[in-house]
Amino acid sequence: MKQLELTIGWLYPTLMSTYGDRGNVICLQRRCQWRNIHVSLINLDQQQPPETYQQVDLIVGGGAQDRQQAIVMSDLQGAKAHALGAKLEQGTPGVFTCGSPQLLGHYYEPKLGDTIPGLGLLDLTSKHPGANTPRCIGNIVFTITASPLAAELTTLWGDTPLVIGFENHGGRTYLGNVQPLGQVIKGYGNNGEDGLEGAFYRRAIATYAHGPLLPKNPFIADWLIQTALREKYQEEITLTKLDDSLALKAREAVLNKLNLTNRLNKA
Ligand code: GLN
Repeated sequence: MKQLELTIGWLYPTLMSTYGDRGNVICLQRRCQWRNIHVSLINLDQQQPPETYQQVDLIVGGGAQDRQQAIVMSDLQGAKAHALGAKLEQGTPGVFTCGSPQLLGHYYEPKLGDTIPGLGLLDLTSKHPGANTPRCIGNIVFTITASPLAAELTTLWGDTPLVIGFENHGGRTYLGNVQPLGQVIKGYGNNGEDGLEGAFYRRAIATYAHGPLLPKNPFIADWLIQTALREKYQEEITLTKLDDSLALKAREAVLNKLNLTNRLNKA
């Protein structure tokens, strides 16, 4: 059997990794290593030239404070912005949390200071309603409704995926012509008004769920790995099953705490 390899690109790790988002990277690395898939990590930061984006098979972007988002956007311009956009259009899978999706949209209006223009890759806008409006903080639970993601996750996991995470954002996101990632069961999601959470475009998952997301929802981690392998090797690769009993226990504990045990399923 050939040696499988994946390269993860991590967007601006020192500027964009709030609330344990680096856990998403660690989770992907470990789930690859446990299956003997060689994994390398490239920091897509100020030091990297735009060409580096072409080497990555999977992209991770974390959350950030408003100030850090502005610094990132001053670097993620021109050829780099184009390279990231090209990867997403090609169907490179990725997971983008909180501040990252705000930057993938048209713009983000922060609490203070000038509007931060986004990359316009996702048809969404985000706006902080001001210092007097409370942040959206707490555990979040949602179902994935995006197509074909929901169906693919169900095939992978054998049950309807219920996503558990933690959100902490001041910005409110409003979707244009882009699919939501899911429907909120508990929590705020994109804006606390329309019941929608995140966005899904090509193979990019955009979400307000930190948590970190992937260790609590290992089926999303495996979908990212499997999709990245399929794209890279242009063939269907079945992942060996891992022992997720600890993750399942953690999920059960959160759902218990939120009085949602009736929603408990295998995922
Ligand atoms: N600065 C953004 C907001 O408050 C993103 C926060 C985050 O990434 N956690 O909306």
